[in-house]
Amino acid sequence: MLDIQKIRADFPILSQKVNGKPLVYFDNGATSQKPQVVIDAISKYYQEINANIHRGVHTLSQLATDAYEVSRGKLQHHINAKFPYEVIFTSGTTHGINAVANGFASILKVGDEVLVSALEHHSNIVPWQMLCEKTGAKLVVIPMNVEGELIISEFDKLLSEKTKIVTVNHISNALGTLNPIKYIIDKAHEVGAAVLIDGAQAVPHLKPDVQDMDCDFYVFSGHKICGPTGVGILYGKEEWLRKLPPYQGGGEMIATVSFEKTTYADLPHKFEAGTPNIAGGIVLGTAIDYLNEIGFENIQAYEHELLEYGTKKLLEIEGLKIFGTAKEKTSVISFNIEGIHPYDIGTIVDKLGIAVRTGHHCAQPIMDFYQIPGTIRASFAFYNTKEEIDIFVEALKKAQLMLS
Ligand code: PMP
Repeated sequence: MLDIQKIRADFPILSQKVNGKPLVYFDNGATSQKPQVVIDAISKYYQEINANIHRGVHTLSQLATDAYEVSRGKLQHHINAKFPYEVIFTSGTTHGINAVANGFASILKVGDEVLVSALEHHSNIVPWQMLCEKTGAKLVVIPMNVEGELIISEFDKLLSEKTKIVTVNHISNALGTLNPIKYIIDKAHEVGAAVLIDGAQAVPHLKPDVQDMDCDFYVFSGHKICGPTGVGILYGKEEWLRKLPPYQGGGEMIATVSFEKTTYADLPHKFEAGTPNIAGGIVLGTAIDYLNEIGFENIQAYEHELLEYGTKKLLEIEGLKIFGTAKEKTSVISFNIEGIHPYDIGTIVDKLGIAVRTGHHCAQPIMDFYQIPGTIRASFAFYNTKEEIDIFVEALKKAQLMLS
């Protein structure tokens, strides 16, 4: 059992008022709030050990390098990667996907296929489209059904010898659907295709085990798991990271440079050109420690309660329709209220101190599928409460009254 009030006290922002009302933060899918330990760790880094890493012989540089590498180790254990050098620090999910898509430009040929799902965030669509434009490969889409689940029988049919990479999110940001990625990975491997899993929306809710999943790449952002913005992780199996060319050239990622030829540094540095977000990388380890202390099993059980409670309460509102009713889903409720634009609802509830996301959630193909301009998305975290859901429901009723 989680002591929610104690947890809430860890997050200074949660005791704030917004527009004169106590903040109800239901936009966790966009970014999570940060506990005091994370905020403190950022200042501690700048106050005590700020220096550039992997370069200096001086003490501070070594302290910063050690802290950065310790954090890499924490992330390695968290996702159960086999080796620390399979864990690449990036600026976030988007960076990780682009790095892999860019690498595949050296592999794909005309007629090859990239399989992407209908449930993807734009950042797991556009880099693959760009890759296909560059290489002449074809982008093929795994369709979804009205519940917001992937149609797996169609996926089976789309897979072929032409498929070179399959890219799917672990959990959909717009609908909360938990995808059957183990099945997808196994099937894709049968035809020799690589698999990238976009874990951006999964890591706040579960502890991914990349060896158990057997995915080739797994990407996520630090800011959705209580860490700072501007840092994330690209996990890649060693064989793939060795095979792919580096994404960016520059300092840190080289072994030797002359004007005739450059040789690349070993992993993970080959994929870490330039001065990284050092504080971010270190503090991501702090965030992971914090979440593991609470425990992902506890987080999941509690968020499931919030999802069930929220779904039941919201459905009591007349004319409210939920999009994304998959059997397996996380604490995300995407919905519309008949006859009212989501943006108008979002604006009114904001005046009442409630933060929700409105719009297409960077997943326009999903909105096109449902033929709607967007939804209101309430995404719950382990620090939210049922009382906040009650406040939200009352605010929605008020908005409905005003707008209809
Ligand atoms: N994929 C998914 C499923 C996401 O939810 C997000 C963030 N909304 C991203 C990718 C992109 O993450 P970032 O903007 O942190 O790179």
